[in-house]
Amino acid sequence: MNERIRDKTVCQTLEKQGVRCLGYHGELIIAPGQVVTGQGGMFKVFTPFSRAWRQVYLKQVPEPLGMPSKQSNSSSVETVPEDLGWPAELEQKPLNAAHWPVGQDTIHQRLIDFVAEKEKDYKQQRDFPALSGTSKISPYLAIGALSPLQCLQALKVESSDQEWLASTWLNEIIWREFYRHLLVACPNLSRLEPFRPEVESRITWRHNPEGFDAWCRGETGFPIVDAAMKQLLATGWMHNRLRMVVASFLTKLLGVDWRLGAAFFMRHLIDGDFASNLGGWQWASSVGADAAPYFRIFNPQLQSEKFDPDGKFIASWLPQLAAVPVKQRHLPGAGQAYGRPAPIIDYKTARKAALDDYQQQG
Ligand SMILES: Cc1cc2nc3c(=O)[nH]c(=O)nc-3n(C[C@H](O)[C@H](O)[C@H](O)COP(=O)(O)OP(=O)(O)OC[C@H]3O[C@@H](n4cnc5c(N)ncnc54)[C@H](O)[C@@H]3O)c2cc1C
Repeated sequence: MNERIRDKTVCQTLEKQGVRCLGYHGELIIAPGQVVTGQGGMFKVFTPFSRAWRQVYLKQVPEPLGMPSKQSNSSSVETVPEDLGWPAELEQKPLNAAHWPVGQDTIHQRLIDFVAEKEKDYKQQRDFPALSGTSKISPYLAIGALSPLQCLQALKVESSDQEWLASTWLNEIIWREFYRHLLVACPNLSRLEPFRPEVESRITWRHNPEGFDAWCRGETGFPIVDAAMKQLLATGWMHNRLRMVVASFLTKLLGVDWRLGAAFFMRHLIDGDFASNLGGWQWASSVGADAAPYFRIFNPQLQSEKFDPDGKFIASWLPQLAAVPVKQRHLPGAGQAYGRPAPIIDYKTARKAALDDYQQQG
């Protein structure tokens, strides 16, 4: 909201001085406000939004812009981290730059390789964190090194006829558009207010510094949660399935306010994106648009057995578990004999407490 007011003010000021201002929406394929319901409002549910989005796109297919002229080097700005109560030493760790190569050609090649080789299997593979089944282009989209329009163009070039229109991968890019359109339509979301205050008013967030600390460090004793958090801390990225699992764990099983988790993610994610992160956290804690109902609580063990059946992902981030038989790797408290922690909660008790709490408030 403030950014939009800022841009408008800059343009008005420049125009008064005789400078012509032109605005471009490079951050999205379709600008906010152009995908609306029959009544002209914003969609509150994703599926009808995505249908309407496709129709709007087909009516006014945007042409890719040409190559920009060479830019001058910009100077970097140091930012001072705020103390939000998470372990201070986690701030010091530099990311391994090898995970995220830079340079226009390299980044573009990553996109082309994905659409040419992996996009066809995306639907089947995207939920399995041990596989390299997703594009990993989110950091480049987040900083504007790639545009979503480039992604769609690349997909169209690789697809026959209108196959691309039904692509599951495109659908995910439309989720990104959905969350940004929502943010513009509902400016109160920028103030970290929930999309569904009537749901949040039924939830009592708990003061749980020990639980939050264990979650941040990846030391909860729940292997899939801990492996995911170690992946985040080491690479700045986390697989989407696991973002949902760890967000559900923090908000529903530990009872910690989603805003703390969202802030921790924004601090550590290399693809930190205000709208998508906000949307993801509000979805996981059931207070967002088109969110999971509150009673749907992810069971970390079942998620692990289903989406990391060989326990490969877990063992790659928690090497102590490589010595544990695959079936037992998924269990809370697995690998205690090798130095892994005991589970900080009992899943069934925590689940019941979350549901009782929520229902009592209603
Ligand atoms: C709690 C939570 C927090 C999240 N925080 C962020 C964030 O800060 N930044 C961010 O870019 N994404 C966020 N996501 C969405 C998603 O997890 C990532 O976009 C995805 O994992 C990036 O990996 P990828 O590039 O391989 O994605 P792919 O699966 O290859 O998808 C392609 C692109 O589509 C977009 N996309 C995919 N899934 C989603 C989604 N669920 N919501 C919105 N856009 C999506 C991304 O731009 C992604 O790069 C979050 C999800 C959750 C549940």
